[in-house]
Amino acid sequence: MISIEKINKNFGTVQALKDVSLEIGNGKKVVIIGPSGSGKSTLIRCINGLEKPTSGKIIVDGLEATAPKADMRRLCHDVAMVFQNFNLYPHKTVLENVTLAPIKVLKIPRDKAVENGKLYLERVGLSDKLDTFPAKLSGGQQQRVAIARALNMNPKIILFDEPTSALDPEMIGEVADVIADLAKGNKTLVIVTHEMGLAREVADELVFMDEGSIVERGTPAQLFDQSPNPRLRAFFSKVL
Ligand code: ADP
Ligand code: MG
Repeated sequence: MISIEKINKNFGTVQALKDVSLEIGNGKKVVIIGPSGSGKSTLIRCINGLEKPTSGKIIVDGLEATAPKADMRRLCHDVAMVFQNFNLYPHKTVLENVTLAPIKVLKIPRDKAVENGKLYLERVGLSDKLDTFPAKLSGGQQQRVAIARALNMNPKIILFDEPTSALDPEMIGEVADVIADLAKGNKTLVIVTHEMGLAREVADELVFMDEGSIVERGTPAQLFDQSPNPRLRAFFSKVL
């Protein structure tokens, strides 16, 4: 579903990504971990075209995202993203937030977008908040709206960039539970997170990045329990 071939990304003199390659099969759940500044956000932002690699190639469901004239519209349809800070539209209700892009961008009939949107909001436990504005919701609720909004685009891939990092501790669980539930389905998920419990629970493959490179990858058991890699152990000693 996603093929990343030797990508590099420079921001001025900062080399954010160094020869990163990664293959992600259809339906796989890949969790990316690593210290702050290691290139995790840059990597997933390259997958949905928010960043363009300086060199290398990314192919998403057969579409070369890194091509000069890539079909960004199609990439937009295929890949949804959930951000750390929710990025909801403050002046739209919960239901409007979830239905706006499907109606305007995907040209889904309003009735259908509303019907599906309500189902996804029910799935994330927010059926009673359809007409509420984001400011009236807790952070955990806002992030669950953002997840319902991503689902209502019916994407092939959902990217999560530290979806629980902006939340108060007591709200991390409700969002992690929604993501873990989603991980039981057949969508392709790429999740950047510092929640090691979530990583262990959902990852088919766990990828550890440090200083712009993929340093280790494997099953959660391989990385958590078996890897002697000192950089990985140093990272775990800080987050576990
Ligand atoms: P992570 O998500 O792992 O914390 P990032 O991908 O955000 O790491 O950042 C990787 C490196 O690239 C860091 O050194 C960061 O400062 C730098 N960087 C990221 N985005 C930009 C940008 N838009 N302009 C300049 N430097 C950036
Ligand atoms: Mg980041």
